[in-house]
Amino acid sequence: MVRADVGDEQHGDDPTVEALCDRVAALTGKEAAMFLPSGTMCNQIAILVHCRRGDEILAHEDSHIVINEGGGPGALAGAVVLGLRGERGTFDSATLKAALREKRRNAPPQTLVEVEQTANAGGGSVWPQALLDDVLDTAHDLGLKTHMDGARLMNAVVASGVPAREMAARCDSVWLDFTKGLGAPLGAVLCGSAAFIDEAWRWKQRLGGSLRQAGICAAACLYALDHNVERLAEDHANARRLALGLAAVPGLTVHEPETNLVFFDTRPIGLTADELAERVRLAGVVLSTVGTYRMRACTHLDVDAEAVDAAVRAVAEALR
Ligand SMILES: *Cc1c(COP(=O)(O)O)cnc(C)c1O
Repeated sequence: MVRADVGDEQHGDDPTVEALCDRVAALTGKEAAMFLPSGTMCNQIAILVHCRRGDEILAHEDSHIVINEGGGPGALAGAVVLGLRGERGTFDSATLKAALREKRRNAPPQTLVEVEQTANAGGGSVWPQALLDDVLDTAHDLGLKTHMDGARLMNAVVASGVPAREMAARCDSVWLDFTKGLGAPLGAVLCGSAAFIDEAWRWKQRLGGSLRQAGICAAACLYALDHNVERLAEDHANARRLALGLAAVPGLTVHEPETNLVFFDTRPIGLTADELAERVRLAGVVLSTVGTYRMRACTHLDVDAEAVDAAVRAVAEALR
């Protein structure tokens, strides 16, 4: 980061940012890409480009844009989100078709289908490629645009072996985050057609997401692409190790992880998620609570197998 070649990113002359954008556009198979400070800004700018006020977005009811972006689609684009149901954060084309409204003057125009790869609240689950293709083809057949929240796209790639460009082939826009398992301090890259990115630049400027010597950040993202992608498999192995360990703690119900997120329920042990989180925090273990009785653990490049075992011991100890 210290040695990065930098320039004025707003004017397209920061060479490190340009190099990162070229690289991510190639990775996702898109014409153009844009550097942004965060994944949330990628989602919101994509929605601002794809949707007009009053439009309806179809997305899983547990998707990040529904539960974790402060009502951004409504606050910024003036769009509403219709939440779809389905297993592990996914949905099928039948569900999508069933949610389609007859085109009438009093129905909201439905303009965008959004999918999350991996699905965070779905358990860090990977959309099976055939299901994803079918849903996105159906969306296009129906005249809707498609957007992929790829915060953990590379986790899906590493877990499934399907290349990113194949996963994103039917997406009009896609982005990936460098701050999740990839370990950079900030940064995300949004990709799409040249026309889409052109329009997205206007919103980047309006929202104050246009930067100056952002190459210092892009350098960390390039480092992440070179060093931290393949090792995501270690996070996945550690997540499986954690799930196995937790499942052996009497009373805990653990959902089988597909990538680096492990969800488990605390109801059978008679503690709320907050209560358990508080107890293990004292032992130096940080767990997220995502519901009254639902906890989420995340394995990442700062957590090794030994730390996983220590976390399991801390949870078991907390229940004694
Ligand atoms: C973390 C996350 C985001 C937002 O990314 P930030 O970089 O934290 O803004 C969006 N979608 C999903 C699925 C995420 O997990």
